[in-house]
Amino acid sequence: MSAAPTSIPSLRPGPERPNSAGHSPERTCVACRRKRVQSEFVRVTRAPEGWQVRGGSRTGRGAYVCADSPECWAEKRLRRAFRSEAGAVSAQLHSLKTPTDQS
Ligand SMILES: [Zn+2]
Repeated sequence: MSAAPTSIPSLRPGPERPNSAGHSPERTCVACRRKRVQSEFVRVTRAPEGWQVRGGSRTGRGAYVCADSPECWAEKRLRRAFRSEAGAVSAQLHSLKTPTDQS
């Protein structure tokens, strides 16, 4: 009883799932419509008092704006998403990113 060891290549029939390994959620910037990974956005949350940049609650409606693109923080580009509050969101984004010791 000497069976020759048959080397079976590990071929498993299965569903083809390309890119299933590096799963990263993508979001779309409300200003420029670019798709990027979530970590590259600033999240703006709809709070009862208005849109809040980096607000406490992660529930409810949220919008995403590029964290590194000042052109996406312009009021006129935010107006499509935030309407009358676009100016307030723009100001919050700028205060979040602008260094205070600017001379
Ligand atoms: Zn953008």
